[in-house]
Amino acid sequence: MLHAPYVSWKSVSGYRWQKDGKAFRLVHAGDTAAKNVLIPNDIYEIFRTMLPTADAVLAFANEFGLLTNNAKPETLGLWLAERAAVRAALALFEKTPPPLEWHAVSEGSKLGIWSYELPADGLNRSPEKLQTVIPQEKGSATTAARMMLCVLVSGHLRGGITTYFEHRPNGSGPQFRLVTAPCNLLGKIWLQVIQSIESGADPRICPVCGKSFPIAPGIGRSNKQFCSDGCRFKAWRKRTGYKPNKGKHHGKGKTRTR
Ligand SMILES: [Zn+2]
Repeated sequence: MLHAPYVSWKSVSGYRWQKDGKAFRLVHAGDTAAKNVLIPNDIYEIFRTMLPTADAVLAFANEFGLLTNNAKPETLGLWLAERAAVRAALALFEKTPPPLEWHAVSEGSKLGIWSYELPADGLNRSPEKLQTVIPQEKGSATTAARMMLCVLVSGHLRGGITTYFEHRPNGSGPQFRLVTAPCNLLGKIWLQVIQSIESGADPRICPVCGKSFPIAPGIGRSNKQFCSDGCRFKAWRKRTGYKPNKGKHHGKGKTRTR
């Protein structure tokens, strides 16, 4: 995938919430003058960890701009649904315990049903069924989760990216290429999620126990070396010569050097 820098825009005078029927949506606070903002490469992490509140969404919009450049009404519900989906996608990839917004339900041993609910914010609603998916292969919950992840990401990517064919007469590399680029901030966020998943999907080998484990840059530590805290501790003990305390020798004559 091509990773081009991405410039968003935001209203110079900022945004505010405006009541629009039953929902609230983001509007310019005053004039519509816009300012360009260079979007950081970890915007998806900022978005993922943003608090699910109207205030936090407003602060995000005032720093980075709207998600869709007003292609659709930017309600709090839209923002929180996209945030929940980003969190769900990364949780599906990492197989971390499910975050608040989604959960998986097994139906017998055959089907997974995935759904998420928005957090308590005045927009409470019952869990929404996203998809009924994937007859699970024997013992392959991971495969099922990753297939679901792709369905989820593909659905949310729609409308946020554009594709074009490009000729680069003087560039290095191929003269012609197909470029996938974000056409709004939301598209940029989802492309970063994909990039994070792609680069985190190739397993590393733990030097202590020899098992392979997945890494996910930007979520866990991208320089993660060991499969677990246990192995990291073993490696540290070996490196430092640390011995567990034995009663009365506690704290005596041992200084740790690195
Ligand atoms: Zn290990």
